[in-house]
Amino acid sequence: MPGAIIEARGVHKHFGALHVLKGVDLSVAEREFVFVIGPSGSGKSTLLRCLNRLEQPSSGSIMVDGTDMLDVKTDINKARQRIGMVFQSFNLYPHMTALGNVSLALRKVLGMPRAAAEARAGAALERVHLGDRAGHFPGQLSGGQQQRVAIARAIALEPRVMLFDEPTSALDPELVGGVLQVMRELRESGMTMVVVSHEMAFARAAADRVVFMADGEILEQGPPADVFGAPSHARTRAFIGQIE
Ligand code: ADP
Ligand code: MG
Repeated sequence: MPGAIIEARGVHKHFGALHVLKGVDLSVAEREFVFVIGPSGSGKSTLLRCLNRLEQPSSGSIMVDGTDMLDVKTDINKARQRIGMVFQSFNLYPHMTALGNVSLALRKVLGMPRAAAEARAGAALERVHLGDRAGHFPGQLSGGQQQRVAIARAIALEPRVMLFDEPTSALDPELVGGVLQVMRELRESGMTMVVVSHEMAFARAAADRVVFMADGEILEQGPPADVFGAPSHARTRAFIGQIE
């Protein structure tokens, strides 16, 4: 696909005898917002983790921002700096403030001096609407605020793409909206995003493309209006019917 920033081709992943990804092709254009849905165990997390090589695919090819992620000559730590990742669990350091958590990544990964790191971390916290919580510890923040700190930690590194794996699944319902709002704003700022989530209303409203995975394969994909409004595959229909 011309202009693709992520280009995964024929990706297979086995865990022992378990064949988890069965030849997945996924291209994502710059600034595109791709939403991945599908039943539990279908390989969504494994696919995301292969994209930044947290998992090593068994075969296939993965290019991200012009870098061959599977080439042994690729400096994988450097390549990963351009791929922000947000998980269901926020994994913040409890003994460090929000500002400390975000600036630590900048100091460790980019080697920025403390003052510069804290300035950039403060700006990232502003972007997730937590400028006034910079001095708070994770335990003093709601789950939604903690997840927004985790998003700030990722965007502070100025990634070229962002991967989200069920970013709101661990949150109480009243806290989900604030995280989705931040994701919406990120998308409006031009960030390329691949999001695994069960927030179907959000997908309908905000995604450019919805990808439906089942049993390690992409069964169907297209604009949200098509995939949700007129799914062509029986398994998609069953899945959507179940969720809504
Ligand atoms: P999803 O995110 O769609 O729920 P996953 O990618 O997490 O699916 O998992 C797909 C399948 O791979 C599941 O059967 C899961 O148990 C298995 N799996 C995932 N990670 C591992 C692992 N590290 N070792 C063995 N099996 C795994
Ligand atoms: Mg998963």
